[in-house]
Amino acid sequence: MSTESSLRAGIVEVGRRMYARGYTASNDGNISVRLGQDRLLMTPKSVCKGFMTPDMMCITDLQGVKLQGDRDPSSEMLMHLEVYRQRPDVQAVVHAHPPTATGFAVAGIPLDRAVLAEVLTTLGSIPIAEYATPSTSELPAAVGKFIKAHDGMLLANHGALTVGSELFSAYYKMETIEHFARISLVARLLGGENLLARDEVTRLQQLRGTYGIQAPAPICLDPAVPGTQGGGDDAATCQVVQAPAGGGLRLVPEGREPRSEAAPARSHEEAEIRLTYRELSALIADAIQSLR
Ligand SMILES: [Zn+2]
Repeated sequence: MSTESSLRAGIVEVGRRMYARGYTASNDGNISVRLGQDRLLMTPKSVCKGFMTPDMMCITDLQGVKLQGDRDPSSEMLMHLEVYRQRPDVQAVVHAHPPTATGFAVAGIPLDRAVLAEVLTTLGSIPIAEYATPSTSELPAAVGKFIKAHDGMLLANHGALTVGSELFSAYYKMETIEHFARISLVARLLGGENLLARDEVTRLQQLRGTYGIQAPAPICLDPAVPGTQGGGDDAATCQVVQAPAGGGLRLVPEGREPRSEAAPARSHEEAEIRLTYRELSALIADAIQSLR
């Protein structure tokens, strides 16, 4: 069990790292940890997370009543309280506005594609909690829909939230989300991700057990069912990941998924033909031959 002084120092260090990495600007973001059974240690409102000192933190009970501290607790305290209420296993909560992940949250694009093994084994999928006015009771309600099954999520038009079994575990998940968002953005700029096939995702899910990774819910594979990504009932009980059937492949180029039974067949006029350079060269050579 960490001592109160080491937890205060830990919050200062996490705040410093978040500010140094640009995950927060000005007074954005907030951090909390459990302090024993029924108390929380939390960042105060209206301070820059890059320049905190250990004595600034507030102590509250699990209803948010301030027990100790010169300053008032974070304006997002209600969101933190909701997480601790729903997740007895969670020891720490981190909230920030990392710019690339927040860009996905603003664009309404969840980070739920099967792309990176370490993201799948740790966070599974990263859904988007619906937009809520910050610091109101709307935000805990939006977060509450996903927090039972997810250790990290985006907050629509706002930022990101991560939780963990200790302070640095929660913080590292914030790093993972921002890193994953940057990689996803670059891959999309370069033409789109190759996705891990469903069988590979199943294999990675089994590795969670091998490596002793504690995930709050299993991964549910959902290749392309409209309306279920990140917002359906499934997302409350499992981590919905988009992974195509591989048909023997472990990596499937985006847009190459085998067509599902329900999807209408394209007409000949719309059909897409993909050729390798060698095949195309052979076709052109044939055409030139036939002209002679
Ligand atoms: Zn915020």
